[in-house]
Amino acid sequence: MKIGIVASEAIPFSKTGGLADVTGALFKEYTTLGEETFLFLPYYKATRELIKDLREEGKLKIKIGDENKEGRILSKEFNKNCKVIFIEQDEYFDRDKLYGTGDGDYIDNAERFGFFDRAVIEAAKILNLELDILHLNDWQTGLIPIFIKETGLKPKTLFTIHNLAYQGNFPSTKLEELGIDRQYFKVDGLEFYGSMSFIKSGIVYSDYISTVSPTYAREILTEEYGERLDGILRVKKNRLKGIINGIDYEVWNPETDPRIWKNYSLNSIEGKSENKARLGQELLLEIGRAPLLGFVGRLATQKGVDILIEALTKLLLEQDIKVVVLGTGERKFEENLLELQRKYPQSLKAVIGFDDALAHKIYASSDFFLMPSRYEPCGLGQLISMKYGTLPIARETGGLKDTVDNFNEFTQFGNGFLFYDYSADALLESIKKALGIYNNKEIFGMMRGIAMSCDFSWRRSARKYIELFKTMIEET
Ligand code: ADP
Repeated sequence: MKIGIVASEAIPFSKTGGLADVTGALFKEYTTLGEETFLFLPYYKATRELIKDLREEGKLKIKIGDENKEGRILSKEFNKNCKVIFIEQDEYFDRDKLYGTGDGDYIDNAERFGFFDRAVIEAAKILNLELDILHLNDWQTGLIPIFIKETGLKPKTLFTIHNLAYQGNFPSTKLEELGIDRQYFKVDGLEFYGSMSFIKSGIVYSDYISTVSPTYAREILTEEYGERLDGILRVKKNRLKGIINGIDYEVWNPETDPRIWKNYSLNSIEGKSENKARLGQELLLEIGRAPLLGFVGRLATQKGVDILIEALTKLLLEQDIKVVVLGTGERKFEENLLELQRKYPQSLKAVIGFDDALAHKIYASSDFFLMPSRYEPCGLGQLISMKYGTLPIARETGGLKDTVDNFNEFTQFGNGFLFYDYSADALLESIKKALGIYNNKEIFGMMRGIAMSCDFSWRRSARKYIELFKTMIEET
């Protein structure tokens, strides 16, 4: 099978978030599973600094507005069946950031990714790739299914939604500038409350849609999680799949992780306590025998930071626990957490910032990992923490529901703790249940064992995508 992955970012070439991890990992895995794979990416400034000596495969001239924008198709072959194709257009992509600055998104993002989407199709034509599948990712690639219709190319398209909240909606005047026929600007097309929507185009015109967990795939069909796209998603629900993300066990493995103080496995779990003690020293937090609760993530409403702060405020008053929080995001949450730290300096440490090494240490040192997300397409924190024997306490939504098995008092089985209501009280109750288990060394040890033995590798996810591609091809 010949697969083209199209994305606005992929590790190791470009990254702003989880999307890059997914696309980079799938590129590697499809190839390892023997599929001929091409990865299409913009050639950003950061990418240029990272990777040079590319081969020029062709030139591009694409009409955007009144201008013909020129660009180049560059490529790098990694081995016989795996090639990265970069779209070079310096006016659009040779910038410091991928999508915008602190002041907001770049104002020409519609033109930038409209150009990119056309360029991908041009490149596939010029290089005569004869792709069977185009695996498109997020709104930046949403126009591709329309452009395919206009060419003689026949790849089947899968449009994967990594987070429905990011939609790529622009004024309808962009249609003409991007050379999109007005026939597509309709309620069951890419029209979205008077705007044109890249994500809606991807949803409507691709053959299949997927998102990054089965539960999120069901949730986005409802008004509560649908981000105003639930109606159109319900129309396509028979072609909507949920495939859970994986994590890279070469990076996230307590047995080999060079960023933690003491490597450990299930058979040498004592090593985990050493990490806990060292983290306490590093953060000037006296932990002792108290249970340690960790949080690593964006300080955003999506992540449930409001109920987290409310729950901690109550909990710290009444229980001897230790908490370490690492994150950046909304100013008010940062301030609330620092305030909580001032109030309970013996119990809580809030580190405001992005710090990959510290994140590894928190995963390794904590007893429990907090993920009270309001919604969670997949979530990586719970997968990482389980591998490190740190039991997640998470809200029963999206990928959290699909990967965390709530502790069952009767069977005494589970790899974490789940709560359903989006409220500080429900979270608090779940934390208290977890703290109860912490005191029962036998059950706590057993749960750790289950968590550490779970397999959330990329190989599993990639196999599921390939099965889906086969179904898509057979449906012709
Ligand atoms: P998101 O919605 O932000 O993509 P995920 O749970 O899917 O959430 O992935 C977040 C990833 O980013 C995890 O690997 C987490 O450890 C990491 N991360 C988030 N915030 C920070 C931070 N402040 N410092 C270090 N790593 C972070």
